[in-house]
Amino acid sequence: MTLLKRIFLQLRITICLCPMLFLPVQNAYCQIKNVILMIGDGMGPQQVALALLYQQVQSQRDSQIPMLALQRIMQQGEVGLMMTQPYQKLVVDSACSASQLATGQYSRSEMIALDKEGNPLPTILEKAKLQGKSVGLVSDTRITHATPASFATHVAHRHQENEIAEQLLEAQVDVLLSGGLRYFLPNTMNKTTTDKLRQLIPPRLSLKSKRKDNKNLILRAKQQNYDLVFNRNQLLETTYNPHKKLLGLFTSSAMPDAIKAVQNKRSIPSLSEMSQVAINRLAKNPQGFFLMIEAGQIDWAGHANDVGTLLHEMLRFNQALQAVMQWVDGRDDTLLVVTADHETGSFGFTYSSFEVPKATSLTGSQFRNRSFKANYNFASPNILFKIYRQKMSLHNLVRKFKKLPRNKQTASQLMHLVNANLAFKITRQQAVQLIQQDQQRVNQTTGLLISNVTQYFYPYSVNAFAAAIARAISPQQSVVWGTGTHTSTPVPVIAYGQPDKVIKQFDGMHHSTEIGRLMMELFLKKQ
Ligand code: MG
Ligand code: ZN
Repeated sequence: MTLLKRIFLQLRITICLCPMLFLPVQNAYCQIKNVILMIGDGMGPQQVALALLYQQVQSQRDSQIPMLALQRIMQQGEVGLMMTQPYQKLVVDSACSASQLATGQYSRSEMIALDKEGNPLPTILEKAKLQGKSVGLVSDTRITHATPASFATHVAHRHQENEIAEQLLEAQVDVLLSGGLRYFLPNTMNKTTTDKLRQLIPPRLSLKSKRKDNKNLILRAKQQNYDLVFNRNQLLETTYNPHKKLLGLFTSSAMPDAIKAVQNKRSIPSLSEMSQVAINRLAKNPQGFFLMIEAGQIDWAGHANDVGTLLHEMLRFNQALQAVMQWVDGRDDTLLVVTADHETGSFGFTYSSFEVPKATSLTGSQFRNRSFKANYNFASPNILFKIYRQKMSLHNLVRKFKKLPRNKQTASQLMHLVNANLAFKITRQQAVQLIQQDQQRVNQTTGLLISNVTQYFYPYSVNAFAAAIARAISPQQSVVWGTGTHTSTPVPVIAYGQPDKVIKQFDGMHHSTEIGRLMMELFLKKQ
């Protein structure tokens, strides 16, 4: 090869690999018209692996079972890792983490889209809106919760959900779909207001408000040209009007968990349905769109150390992902980014000395004269089918138990509740201990409660009880949990879509602020 040819080739490779260095190709990515960001709240690599393992054992039983969307996106997309820590801390919460993704800048704990000193920072959603794109937020928690809030509002603390509701409307977000009606209703209502609201809102939904003022944000949304929908049929039947935005509030507070969602599927849309409606509407804008979709209850199952619900939450996320990938497939103008804000629970399968399996025979040459017997129990795949069979989340189970009259909160009742709803059983003795432990926690008589895990890592009371139940059955499940809060584990960041050179940039190890900046750089016009 001549020297000239070699230089030419080198130059071509450099241009291909680092287009950002070359001014003439500054607009190389202007074909990225749409960005869809899917956040699995609390979805660390081990939560992803839970879904993959379940799919694997299922397909061993039935070869017709299709590959999970989660598996396909990792095969066909680009997989990287993402650190999530906040400014000058090691562990992040969902507000700060989503803020960092949304703004590309470091933030502090529990803040919503503020810089480290507390000043509002423009988000990717707000910038996209300013450039004439349509924008949307979808969550299976509630719309005022930390993750969706961080893309369109700015408040000092994530608990300011009243302000968040107001700011979501001020931000003119084109599509808002989730729970959280109670933050949009006036605190006190006269009969006329109640009647007016009842004409819009189906009787299934309570008109109880969580606001401290009398602002009627439902009325305000209507005046701001929002189409309002409150149940699944209304959502699926809503027709597109270019002058209208869409606000869907399907529950008073949080949407149901993934196990309960199946029981409510007639009245409450699934995460997948909300995502599809959002995309179909937003995609009508020829300038493109930004959409954030959150599977927010992966995190909640983690906080409760509840592996059964966690598996169902992962499958709910997978179902939504499948629908989104179907829309993205065949397009060359859309970037789909799948990531998490942090890992929750320090979850994992583990091996143990509990019920070590008996010896079996193998046909291999090394086992002609001996049987195969491992020294430990490496967890049977059948455990996954039993985990899947859970009928109620531990969180709801504990709440149900605590709602019983005091004299009915007995060991037999607790044992019955657990054993009727889970494929893993507890003994009466364990139920007695669980109730004692809970009493100790309530009375704060000891710092050591849940199998030597201090109460400091279980700050939410319902979840602490749930986690204690989880520990009682954990040897049968071969499951361990390290905490009732979040961990600093790097989370997956997966980029999918065309062109290749765009998604390649997500490879490697990043920080959430870098991913935030990268998404903006690839998708927004330079100012
Ligand atoms: Mg969240
Ligand atoms: Zn959390």
